[in-house]
Amino acid sequence: MSQTPCIICVAITGSLPQKSDNPAVPITVGEQVESTHEAFEAGAAIVHAHVRNDDGTPSSDPEKFARLKEGLEKHCPGMIIQFSTGGRSGAGQTRGGMLPLQPDMASLSVGSNNFPTRVYENPPDLVQWLASEMVEHGVKPEIEAFDLSHILQAKAMWERGEIAERPYVQFVMGVKNAMTVDRDVFEYYIHTVKRLFGADVPWCAAGIGREQITLNDWAVSNGGHARTGLEDNVRLNKTTLAPSNAALVRRVAEICDKYERPVASWQQARQILGLSPAA
Ligand SMILES: [Zn+2]
Repeated sequence: MSQTPCIICVAITGSLPQKSDNPAVPITVGEQVESTHEAFEAGAAIVHAHVRNDDGTPSSDPEKFARLKEGLEKHCPGMIIQFSTGGRSGAGQTRGGMLPLQPDMASLSVGSNNFPTRVYENPPDLVQWLASEMVEHGVKPEIEAFDLSHILQAKAMWERGEIAERPYVQFVMGVKNAMTVDRDVFEYYIHTVKRLFGADVPWCAAGIGREQITLNDWAVSNGGHARTGLEDNVRLNKTTLAPSNAALVRRVAEICDKYERPVASWQQARQILGLSPAA
C-alpha cells in the first residue's frame, strides 16, 4: 500500500451545475472563496476553478479569475490554484485568457472527444497555443485524459518541449459518451503513465456523478491523487445532496483513512507536483 500523501483536488464550481441542482454550488466569486476556504480546511490542497456570471452561465472573464485568485490567496494561503481552460467556459483562445494571471496550474485538454450533448473540441492549433501560454507564464498543466490517446499525446508534446515538465495526468471517467468507468482501462492508464513518464510519476483521477466516489476509491488505493467537488457530482448519495464542497473533501479523507494514506498538506502537494513552495 502506498503511503505517499494523497493530494485532494476540489473542483468547486465547473461550468454546468446550478443552484437549482444544489444550492451549495458556489457561483459568485465571494461564494467560491468561502466554499474553497471550507474545503481547504477539510484537507483539499488544490482548487480547480471555473468562473461564472452572476446568473450562473459560464464565463471566461480574466477579471473574474483575477478577483478569485486574489480572494483565494488571501483566505487559503498556500493552496494550489488551478484554473480551467476547458471548453465549456469559452471558445478558442478566450479559454486561456486568464493564463497571464499565472495561477499555479491550469487544466489542459490535448485531444477531442464526445461530451453528453456535443463534441468537446480541442483542435491541435488551440491545444498548442494553450500549452505555449502555460510555458510562457510558468503555469503547470494538468493533462485531462478523457481517452488513452490523450496520454500518448501528452508524451509527444513533452518530447517536443510543448509541455515544460513531466506531464501530470488526470484520468477522467464517467462522462456520458466519453470514456466509461472501466477498471481494466483504469489500470492500463496507470500502467501507461508509469511506462511513459516513470514509475514514480504522480497522477490523479476524477469520476463524474455517482462514479466520483468509485474513482476516489480506485485512485487512493492505487497510489494516485483524487479529485472531488460539486463540479463533478452534487450528491453524497442517491437521495442526499452534498451540503458543501468540504463535505465531498471529507469523504475523500475518509477513503484515505481507510487505505492508511495521509492527506497531503498544501506544502506536501507542492513538493509532489514540483511547484514553488510558496504561493
Ligand atoms: Zn473543470
